[in-house]
Amino acid sequence: MTGKEEKNKVKQCPLCGGAMDDGITTLPFLIVEKVVVIRNVPAEICADCGEAYMKSHVVGEIERLLDRLEELHSEVSIIYYKAA
Ligand SMILES: [Zn+2]
Repeated sequence: MTGKEEKNKVKQCPLCGGAMDDGITTLPFLIVEKVVVIRNVPAEICADCGEAYMKSHVVGEIERLLDRLEELHSEVSIIYYKAA
């Protein structure tokens, strides 16, 4: 072992310590007076408590999506996440 990161190590849920699985989730965002629901978001989901965590590259994509939605004057938006 010479400091090589193990890639297949099971991640643990920060809330309950359960095993995290790759999955797809739906995330609601509340921005000022708007509600944005983003579907089809790749995430790691806890098998025990069901908490979903966005992957770091997804967070950036979602910030960009939300920025674009600023220009829309729709109070409720449901959009599908698509990887760039
Ligand atoms: Zn959990």
